[in-house]
Amino acid sequence: MREVYESYATGLGQLKAADCLRVLPQAEHCGKWIVRHGQKMLNLSSNDYLGLASSTELYNEFMDSIHSAGMPPLPLSSSSSRLLTGNFEVYDMLEKTLADMYGRESALVLSSGYHMNSGILPAISDRNTLILADKLVHASIIDGIRLCECRCIRYRHQDYSQLENIIEKEAGSYKRIIIVTESIFSMDGDLAQLQRLVDIKHRWPSIMLYVDEAHAVGVRGDKGLGLAEESGCIQDIDLLCGTFGKALASAGAYVICDRIIREWLVNKMRTLIFTTALPPLNVAWSLFIMRRIADCGDLRNRLARTSSSLREAFAGLGIQMPSQSHIIPMIIGSGSDAASKAEEMQKKGFYVLPIRPPTVPEGTSRLRFSLTADISDADLQTLIEQI
Ligand SMILES: *Cc1c(COP(=O)(O)O)cnc(C)c1O
Repeated sequence: MREVYESYATGLGQLKAADCLRVLPQAEHCGKWIVRHGQKMLNLSSNDYLGLASSTELYNEFMDSIHSAGMPPLPLSSSSSRLLTGNFEVYDMLEKTLADMYGRESALVLSSGYHMNSGILPAISDRNTLILADKLVHASIIDGIRLCECRCIRYRHQDYSQLENIIEKEAGSYKRIIIVTESIFSMDGDLAQLQRLVDIKHRWPSIMLYVDEAHAVGVRGDKGLGLAEESGCIQDIDLLCGTFGKALASAGAYVICDRIIREWLVNKMRTLIFTTALPPLNVAWSLFIMRRIADCGDLRNRLARTSSSLREAFAGLGIQMPSQSHIIPMIIGSGSDAASKAEEMQKKGFYVLPIRPPTVPEGTSRLRFSLTADISDADLQTLIEQI
């Protein structure tokens, strides 16, 4: 081994000793099932919350639609940034559809949720900005904050009284305050109180609200537009962010905002400007899904029912957890205990994965049950018996 690599070897050895070594799991997908080492397991770790990504029916319908006469060709690469030659017509169609569905001025499509969160905050902040972010926001938001030139304070998870205290103390010193939260938190599955955050925002003219709905779009709201729709505050969130990679069964992300913010991002957002745009074919698939998402109410209801049954079962077993959604953590404690419990569940035919630091705080390693609409009542019953 090259000497210069030695510290990596030591680091990997330490991770392994702490049972925290990450590997890329190999698995075959088969609808709601996953097959590993010849074993077929119910996939409880997928973000395909409505089962749309694994639907062969939708896939075939889309493929037929793009081959029908009159459709412009949809390349497999955009071959350029959107600022140069990568801005195909299908991008505008998707953005227009999104803006119309949300009833807002504009939408901007981005390459991924990671690009979205690491790019928007540095673009919209400056030295006179203060960012106030929930303690449990996603790693991609933290990376965005690291790229900002401004100060950031992380408030205790969902502690809005603390948030208000900070604002009262600091508001006079900054031209702009950006409050950043997820709507459904990705590891705890609990819900931000968006209406409360909107009320706080309206008390100070310098506040902007940034909400990441990665786990909520497709899943919450009558039309599947997320928790902002369900909470009736789509119009009150300055940067309403969603991703296509989870319930929306595609790849990429979008932000819903006023026209002026979109124009600013097009000029200043480095993760939009300096990257090759998503393939037009992929954007067309996102558009195809978006046009159907309002009609997926039955799937949303089914997912909501399955989720509340599992949460009730957890409560019945005396397992405490914060979830109010389809993401249901079983907090175990140490990384190695979580890993062995996950292995036990996998042997029983349920593909759940251990989530360990640094993804979650030290001492809160957990199994993360991520439910989907295609889990049957019988699947759920067996799962509950086996927990
Ligand atoms: C998954 C996720 C992202 C990243 O989205 P990608 O499109 O997968 O890059 C961002 N924010 C949250 C809260 C997420 O859960």
